[in-house]
Amino acid sequence: MADHCEGCSGENCEGCANAAQQMEEEMKKVREQADMIKNVIVVMSGKGGVGKSTVAVNLAVSLSLAGKDVGILDVDVHGPSVPKLLKIQDADIKSDGEKIIPAEVGNLKVMSVGLVTADRDEAIIWRGPLKYNIIKQFIGDVRWGNLDYLIIDCPPGTGDEVLSVIQLLGTVRGAVVVTTPQDIATYDVRKSVSFCRKLNVEVLGVVENMSGFVCPHCGEVTEIFKSGGGEQMAKEMGVKFLGKIPLDPDIASSSDDGTPYVFRFTKAPTAKIIEEVFKPIKDL
Ligand code: ADP
Repeated sequence: MADHCEGCSGENCEGCANAAQQMEEEMKKVREQADMIKNVIVVMSGKGGVGKSTVAVNLAVSLSLAGKDVGILDVDVHGPSVPKLLKIQDADIKSDGEKIIPAEVGNLKVMSVGLVTADRDEAIIWRGPLKYNIIKQFIGDVRWGNLDYLIIDCPPGTGDEVLSVIQLLGTVRGAVVVTTPQDIATYDVRKSVSFCRKLNVEVLGVVENMSGFVCPHCGEVTEIFKSGGGEQMAKEMGVKFLGKIPLDPDIASSSDDGTPYVFRFTKAPTAKIIEEVFKPIKDL
């Protein structure tokens, strides 16, 4: 609501009427764009650092390499990782006069709050309504065009950002929930699953990331921590398990270099594992 309307009853107020009209126009743009996206997939996790952004980026790149029209929207307002993971931190975001043109990596369209903040090292202090508004703009005011998939990289937890995405887009095809095997992560991921249930969002599956360690020399997988926690949790919560992605130094170095693992390592054993994990999403 416009500031000058504060305290007014709303009746016969021109300011309120203008604000309502503006909101209706913005929502119309969001709905029009939403209609052009076949599958919106939210990638969630209960905890930070479990590899959610890595999974989101590799999923988006993998779908794009398979010939799908894909966009990735990073709504992690306080810690956007997608620009760095795709080495586009310095991308110059332009507009065509009507809409914002997303950054492109190959055919993959990318938008992130990290691409539009003036000082990229600056901490952003935004409350819920501001986050809702920027996410609304990132959907309705960005020229995504027709997409087979829009992958949404959400911040950890079940806060304003993921709620805004689901409320704005209305129809979300489903959620991919990322966890590590340890109890401390799976404990929180249960909340992500129940959050999806409350909002009628299908959990497409749980990914157990950093599950076992792949030796860079012999390729053998060693269970340095216990594995299977994500699988067990998925079973207990009655949701699908997509598979285990091992802790692989090549995944970490690819992320650091900004070259997605699935693009760089197509034939490695871990790449084959990741392909299997993503297959049910590709087959939607
Ligand atoms: P989140 O989005 O959950 O906070 P990130 O995707 O940013 O986590 O990943 C955190 C760190 O872990 C990154 O440095 C990333 O490269 C690394 N990482 C993620 N998954 C793996 C993996 N399977 N093997 C090795 N490193 C990984």
